[in-house]
Amino acid sequence: MYEVRILTIFPEIFDSFLGFGNPARAILARLLNVEPVDLRQFALDRHHSTDDYPYGGGAGMVMKPEPLVRGIKHLRANMFSPRVVLMTPQGRLFKQADAQELAGADSLALVCGRYEGIDERVRSFVDDEISVGDYVLSGGETAAMVVIDAISRLIPGVLGTDSRTDGDSFYDGLLEYPQYTRPREFEGLEVPSVLLEGDHAKIRRWRKQQALARTLARRPELLGRRTLDPSEIELLEEIRSETINGES
Ligand code: SAM
Repeated sequence: MYEVRILTIFPEIFDSFLGFGNPARAILARLLNVEPVDLRQFALDRHHSTDDYPYGGGAGMVMKPEPLVRGIKHLRANMFSPRVVLMTPQGRLFKQADAQELAGADSLALVCGRYEGIDERVRSFVDDEISVGDYVLSGGETAAMVVIDAISRLIPGVLGTDSRTDGDSFYDGLLEYPQYTRPREFEGLEVPSVLLEGDHAKIRRWRKQQALARTLARRPELLGRRTLDPSEIELLEEIRSETINGES
């Protein structure tokens, strides 16, 4: 079972999140266990304070090091070889490859900041620092949810046989091809005919071409990072010449 602990001053935030979708399915199947851990229990004073004024002045409060580090030490002592990750906008940008890598770890402890952030010295006690995007959230809890959700889809056995991750955007370095469901025609917009003809080789080729075209148009830098096989190079050349000839 994949074990996750979340060190937070707002453990209740996770109640609803863990009751839906893949995290809930994984928990129900006993493939995942997620436990929010209340940071306040590691505070040293009778008011259970977890924040204090910043040295040097300035607005807002900073999370104190003692509760956070006591919490991290508690988790290290009570989990099997956890990867301790600090959620921070200053961390490494979280990508699908990181989700895959973290899903392969033994267990995970996510540390959530609040207020103006955490005392800098806490960084010496974590293994990794992750950001979910170049924006500032009010707290690490929503970022932790992003990480847990992405990982839960990758735990073997969580997605049913009718779902898969191997065509997902980013899985193999490309954005996913466009998806359609019924009806065949919606507000004058038709489902591409290739998807209705039942020729699976043709569908595979069309989907790969669409994935390449979409990635080229929206996230060209992803193509630069990926090694293309000869059939993909051929498809990409077709897309480029169609674009030059104004066909798409
Ligand atoms: N003043 C801090 C800074 O500029 O780096 C930001 C503090 S933010 C208001 C409070 C907490 O939210 C952070 O300690 C972190 O745990 C979390 N957080 C905010 N944005 C995040 C992001 N993009 N990714 C991960 N965690 C984030």
